Formats: sequence, structure tokens, C-alpha cells
Amino acid sequence: MGLPRIGVILCLGLCVPAWAAMAQERGAVQKPEVPVEKWTGKTVMLIGAHADDDALSHGTLSMLQAHGNQVYIVTLTTGNVGTQDPKLSRTQLAEIRRREELAALAELGIPGEHYINLGYDDGMLEFEDRKAVVENLVRLIRKLRPDALLAWDPGKNYQRWHKSDHRAAAYLAADAARAAMWRLLFEGQITQEGLKEFMIPEYLFYNDYDYEDENLWVDISDYVEKRVNAGAHYTSQFGPGWKNYNPNPSEVEVKEMKDGVRKRIRMKDGKTIEGFRYYRGLPDAIGK
Ligand SMILES: [Zn+2]
Repeated sequence: MGLPRIGVILCLGLCVPAWAAMAQERGAVQKPEVPVEKWTGKTVMLIGAHADDDALSHGTLSMLQAHGNQVYIVTLTTGNVGTQDPKLSRTQLAEIRRREELAALAELGIPGEHYINLGYDDGMLEFEDRKAVVENLVRLIRKLRPDALLAWDPGKNYQRWHKSDHRAAAYLAADAARAAMWRLLFEGQITQEGLKEFMIPEYLFYNDYDYEDENLWVDISDYVEKRVNAGAHYTSQFGPGWKNYNPNPSEVEVKEMKDGVRKRIRMKDGKTIEGFRYYRGLPDAIGK
């Protein structure tokens, strides 16, 4: 019991400075070797807090799926709290959010079995057992071995402020990416479950409203309609369903939801884009 633990401590204590020097150097990498628009044959994982956190990247995700990549969406909470409709229970809302997410992903061409929900309560992610959440995420990372991770941006050089669950999800994703590469962390996954340590090499961090750290803009011109159609499935979140949920919105309501999604899509240099902070290198230096 004692010795392996000492081993981990020694390794973390002694090895990180050497790794950190490399990481600092790699931390400067802000451009993918192959443009995201040309990625193919990769496994891409997105970690978010809620069904719809992936909606900020729906153009990019549908493009990646169409280009022969495998896209997985990992959502930490069931979304079972965010409504103003007094008639809905937590259980009903969790079921609605799952249906909406699967319908949205179907629009993007992402198979339903690529949607993984870890089942935590909406609004409470910060108060969960962080070690258990990270362990669950590490297991998924070691199983799926993604070439790239999309996640809420934990911040570059300083802490990024996000609302509660997003803040937690940003740090949990970064912590899990880091832990997954250390063979002696969550060692039982390796000795008992047949998994192997894994280092995610590339990262696309997303934000809402605050885009100052962005350094990569993906051209989603050909995938705008996919994003709009997918976004219109979040009836309980974006439309009048937030206050008065109706599983069958009218044509007018659907059009209003689509218009709302369209309004949030951004332009840069005459192109329709989704923006990210790109990072490639050791997870230790994600903030550099
Ligand atoms: Zn969210």
C-alpha cells in the first residue's frame, strides 16, 4: 500500500519540473499541424456540464463527424434543474433533456451511442466528490483515447469565470486530461480493468460571451443549417418551453428557436465560424 503511493508522490514531485519545462515550450503551440477543417480518422471527445453545452460547437462537431471522425459527447449532469416551468419534476426534465440532446445529435449525424451522460445533478457539480468525477472521466479518456478534447476553457494564465456547473466542468475536464496520462493515478483501471494510461494531445477550449483568448476559428459555413436544426431541438431550454414546456412546439415557435440559434452564430473575416482556444501539448500546461 505504502510504497506505490510514495512512488506516485515522488514521481509527481520530481518528474513534473522536467516535464514542465517541455510543457512550457509546447504551451506556446496555438495552431494545429492539420487544420481542423481537414481532420479525418480522429476520435474527438467533448466534455460539458449540460445537454446543450455542445451546442456552441455544433457546426464543428457536425463537420468532424461528416469528415470521418468519431465524435463523443460526454455530459456530466442530467440537466434536471434548469427550468422555470413549475409543472416539471426533476425526473421528467432529465428525460426531456436526454431526448432533446439525442435529437440534436441525430441532426449532426452523431450516433446516439456516442452520447455519454454521467448522471450528476444539474447545478450541483461543484459539490460532487471531485475525485470520483475525475476518476469517471479518466476511465472514459483511457477507453476512448481521444485525439482531441473539446471542453469549457478553464482559462489561460488566469482563472476564467464561468457560471457554476461550467466552471466545475472546465476544471474537471482539465484535471481528468492530466490524470489520465499518469499510470499510477487511478491505477486500478490499469491493473484491474485492462486500460492503459493516455495523454490527449490536442485541445479545443470553448467559451460563451468572452472570446478574448480565442486563437482558432473553424469555418463552419457548410454546417450552419445543421447547427440551426440541432439547436431547435432544445425546446425546454431555448424556447417558450423554458417557462411552459410543450413537447410539440408550433411551427412559429420552432422558427423563433431557429432564428435564435442563427443569431448567436458568429462571423469573422466574412466567414461563419466557431472560435476556440487551441492548445497542443502536455495537460500540465493547458493554462499557458
Ligand atoms: Zn450549460
